[in-house]
Amino acid sequence: TWEQVPLAPEDSIFKLTAGYKADTHPNKVNLGVGAYRDNDNKPWVLPVVRKAQRIIADDTSLDHEYLPITGLASFTSAAAKLILGADSDSLKEGRAVSIQTISGTGANHSGALFLSRFYNFNGSKQIYLSNPTWANHHAIFRNVGIEPVDYSYYDPKTVGLDFDGFIGSLKSAPERSVFLLHACAHNPTGVDPTQDQWKAIADIFLERGHYAFFDCAYQGFASGDLDRDAWALRYFFGKGIPGLVCQSFAKNAGLYGERVGALHVIPPSKEAADRVKSQISVLQRSEISNPPTYGARIVSLILNDEALFAEWKRDIVTMAERIISMRKELFRLLTEELKTPGSWNHITDQIGMFSFTGINPSQSKAMTENAHIYLTTNGRISMAGLNTHNVRYVAESLDKVARG
Ligand code: PMP
Repeated sequence: TWEQVPLAPEDSIFKLTAGYKADTHPNKVNLGVGAYRDNDNKPWVLPVVRKAQRIIADDTSLDHEYLPITGLASFTSAAAKLILGADSDSLKEGRAVSIQTISGTGANHSGALFLSRFYNFNGSKQIYLSNPTWANHHAIFRNVGIEPVDYSYYDPKTVGLDFDGFIGSLKSAPERSVFLLHACAHNPTGVDPTQDQWKAIADIFLERGHYAFFDCAYQGFASGDLDRDAWALRYFFGKGIPGLVCQSFAKNAGLYGERVGALHVIPPSKEAADRVKSQISVLQRSEISNPPTYGARIVSLILNDEALFAEWKRDIVTMAERIISMRKELFRLLTEELKTPGSWNHITDQIGMFSFTGINPSQSKAMTENAHIYLTTNGRISMAGLNTHNVRYVAESLDKVARG
């Protein structure tokens, strides 16, 4: 049995990490990693998370019973406020449907599954994904029978947004199409629309009746400010654009492995929200029965306690500022010290954990083979992998490949 099962290729990101781990070169650098590292390249448990863990450990009233199907209510309601805004119409009108999910991936899956069952697709089941996007998006939608279609997003000539192409895709898609939008800190490019561009994009959503499937994996990580990073999705929902948002606490709370996330669907009325919630609950029951407690308890404590929340915001600023300072230093080294040919403004213009450097696959490979710097072949680097000890080495290696 199983003779008919073909061998699947390894996941490229996990393969990259394995290559880095096996490398014994003293100057090796991992720029593939999608997780925050401190200036000594160590994972960082947020101090506020440590505090919450101690509170949980000492709380003898807590048990290990099942959570409700939709998750820990004190977590989902606070998570909804955090992302939608406490004063959002959807919350005031009681029409946001929030369920706890297996981090952002689970939120994407549950959102995709719900749409595949219940969205009134205009023709075939399709989702428009930015070209490029987080590679997992394709698989997540295919898994539930929704075909991914590319929309124009990134312009390699400017290493920036192909705004006209994006608008063109929105206009030419059939009415009521579903578009996946990265709420902030686009992965893998680091290229986000400006607020004016978002407004123009929203106008076309309204005109064409498109559905906004927001994926928000980096709230707080883009600018250091949780509200600013949620601006686009709040603007869309405020305008009455139909949609949902997938929320992850992997990056902004450093809870990667704990799998803490939520899906928020925003129907137009409370009555529709009740029906949507009932169906999402049925789907969740068959898939995971009930979400896990531990990470949700941590985040719930942090979101519902004023002092812990204030401390979390400071921890987020610590991470965002270190990343922004690495962008500035890389840019300074390339442009001022090394005078590397080409334009490098995109390094500081781009946002969040990742940057598209603009180097091509053979240049990326050369960095790995010659300098032991690990990055995806599309030229994406994780800013979290840079620190004051290795940024010069990385800049010099980029300089070498840019000169050919
Ligand atoms: N969406 C995007 C765009 C991401 O980059 C990620 C993390 N790499 C996720 C969703 C999901 O992450 P997680 O499941 O760890 O929350």
